[in-house]
Amino acid sequence: MTIAANDPTIRSWVKVNPESDFPIQNLPLGIFSREKEGTSVGVAIGDKILDIRELASLGYLADLDIDNSVFSSQYLNRFIALGQPVWRAFRDRISELLNNSNQELQSNEEHVKDVLVPSNEVTMHLPVRVGDYTDFYSSIEHATNVGTMFRDPENALLPNWKHIPVGYHGRASSIITSGVDIERPKGQTKADDAEVPSFGPTRLLDFELEMAFILGKENKLGSPISTAEAEDHIFGMVLLNDWSARDIQKWEYVPLGPFLAKSFASSVSPWVVMMDSLQPFRVSGPVQDPPVLPYLQYEGDKNYDINLEVYIQPENSEPVRVCQSNFKYMYWNMCQQLAHQTINGCNVRIGDLYGSGTISGSDKGSYGSMLELSWKGTNPIPMTDGSERKFIQDNDTVIMKGFAEKDGIRIGFGEVSTKVLPAR
Ligand code: CA
Repeated sequence: MTIAANDPTIRSWVKVNPESDFPIQNLPLGIFSREKEGTSVGVAIGDKILDIRELASLGYLADLDIDNSVFSSQYLNRFIALGQPVWRAFRDRISELLNNSNQELQSNEEHVKDVLVPSNEVTMHLPVRVGDYTDFYSSIEHATNVGTMFRDPENALLPNWKHIPVGYHGRASSIITSGVDIERPKGQTKADDAEVPSFGPTRLLDFELEMAFILGKENKLGSPISTAEAEDHIFGMVLLNDWSARDIQKWEYVPLGPFLAKSFASSVSPWVVMMDSLQPFRVSGPVQDPPVLPYLQYEGDKNYDINLEVYIQPENSEPVRVCQSNFKYMYWNMCQQLAHQTINGCNVRIGDLYGSGTISGSDKGSYGSMLELSWKGTNPIPMTDGSERKFIQDNDTVIMKGFAEKDGIRIGFGEVSTKVLPAR
């Protein structure tokens, strides 16, 4: 499928620096507000935001036949509910209006002033109202590392792992966006040599580098979504930091899995990159051996080549890159995850969030959590201020970035940045 808006030769009349995540080929959607104003749907272009509420009120989107109130919503859910043909027509129209060969908007100085906002002058909000949040565990390198550390290096993967995209139901209410601080959570932990558990702030606060997809089309209760249909049900993707308290997790997770060790916060990036923008970056996934059951089989390239980075920034110091990974390493792809999620007839809803699981690669610099990077704390990572990190300390900021790059075009996700405040 050729998508005109992805043409790498298109340039915008809005200035876009070569290192920007948001060229005209990207056009991700988010929710923002200006000072003293309500929320508006926005599209990122370079270091500006196109105010879609304003743009629609000036009549530029009239041909799309969308109720303009959709663009002053608090979340993208109403826009997403309009369906894939509308997402595509919308992206085509925005691409047309921002194209340097099109005069409609660029030649109207007054309108340009009204609709283009410097991104550093706005507040970004959580882009979708998340009803249900699932987190998978789909990186074979991550699952192997964890199994090696906590169980048996010879049998690191549990017997189900290559047959089931393992996942659990996460907590939607504590999903936050970039720039929202979190407090170090407290909970029960039990040291190996202690008789009884104790209560207090987690000592082993960790990030998990993940990506997540946002559900764009619902199914009916009782009607599974096949791997072949799955792509029609996915609206777009964000970066996800699945915050984890390892000491709380270790004590509580038996036998039903993670609970309070995860539910205190999960951070997502504010810009949703639509799947259409990511089409040039499809790659094949790893060979799945043993073969998977028929409902998990798929055809075509379902992985995506997206570079991922994690930085730790101690207070009053420079950010240090601690991880470089890639979304293409995933063993289980998004279509398989959605097919598995619904194979029992479970219905999924617009705005649901599906985390990939920690994205680790095969070399040590590509591990997607401090648990793995510091190998349970045995291999501390130096910061530029002379300190070192085994896990995340108070007043550290964790920053995740992601971008795909090809033919000189960089389709980025911006970042998700979260500061950790001391426990109260
Ligand atoms: Ca996770």
